[in-house]
Amino acid sequence: MAECIFCRIINGEIPSRIVFEDEWSLAFMDVANDVDGHILAVPKTHTKNILDCDDETLIQLMKTVKRISDHLTANCGYNGVNLLNASDESAGQSVPHFHIHIIPRRTGDGIDAWPHFGGAKRDMEEVFNTVRMK
Ligand code: AMP
Repeated sequence: MAECIFCRIINGEIPSRIVFEDEWSLAFMDVANDVDGHILAVPKTHTKNILDCDDETLIQLMKTVKRISDHLTANCGYNGVNLLNASDESAGQSVPHFHIHIIPRRTGDGIDAWPHFGGAKRDMEEVFNTVRMK
């Protein structure tokens, strides 16, 4: 998509710090510079998010995420990763091209990467009956 910023990165029209690339996926440093090592992994085919992503694109993207995660922990001195994704504006997605945030973690690094939800508002049984796949 011509106006998509991540498609423009994939096409080389916008510079980026590329961490990994294969036929299906690209991974590059997030410009936010908000936490050390923040990486975004994206499919090369324009897909908005997990809701419109076909199985093969998703499989290949997650293979890339796994490969990068393995590299970070095996070769870069990290112990783990947080994987974050927002699919749809309602979930906080700001760039409408599917991406997985990879945050490399070290034991005791003090990074708070887990959301603080503030407590459920609805009865769990009622929600369960709504979301269960019958
Ligand atoms: P989200 O809010 O989950 O859609 O995340 C979008 C991410 O894209 C944010 O963390 C931004 O910092 C990042 N971002 C936006 N533009 C660029 C860019 N040109 N290069 C790298 N990361 C970007």
